[in-house]
Amino acid sequence: MDLATITADIERVVVTSEEIQTRITELARSVEADYADKNLLVIGILKGAVMTMADFVRALNIHIEMDWMAVSSYGSGTKSSGVVRIIKDLDRDITGRDVLIVEDIVDTGLTLSWLRANLESRGAKSVEILTMLRKPEAAKVEVDVKYVGFDIPTEFVVGYGLDYDEKYRNLDFIGVLAKKVYA
Ligand code: IMP
Repeated sequence: MDLATITADIERVVVTSEEIQTRITELARSVEADYADKNLLVIGILKGAVMTMADFVRALNIHIEMDWMAVSSYGSGTKSSGVVRIIKDLDRDITGRDVLIVEDIVDTGLTLSWLRANLESRGAKSVEILTMLRKPEAAKVEVDVKYVGFDIPTEFVVGYGLDYDEKYRNLDFIGVLAKKVYA
């Protein structure tokens, strides 16, 4: 299978690779300013946030530490189940830490509101959220996302870390998956 075959499954490009990189640089400047004199712990949520995390932390010109969590809120389908399960927990204690969660997408917001409450309950000093993408549904729940890459329409997207059945994560852009792929 070649790249042309893979991209044929994409109905429309939503965010190009260039747009992603430009926005990441802007977000990095904001985060640097906000955490200049703090000891920031950046927590990437596996696996979707791997690309955002890798590009974002490399754009940061301050000392940071990194950790990872893996949670599951979706099965192999395209709808949120609302049930969050920890698959891989943090390696270290976060008591008293300023934490920034890096996520790929906020859809219903269920995953992030659960995650924030979970990290706050462990005694973090502050917990903020950075997400590459946000869908309109997210506005309906009480999850305060401080740093947003792009607001996108309510459609199932893949690429730049986002998958459908574990595929398409390696695309360097974000696109709407053609319905024929999962219908
Ligand atoms: P939420 O709990 O509904 O906000 O869902 C968040 C998680 O669902 C994200 O971290 C993604 O893993 C997954 N997700 C939500 N929307 C999409 C999408 O359009 N494409 C791929 N994964 C998605």
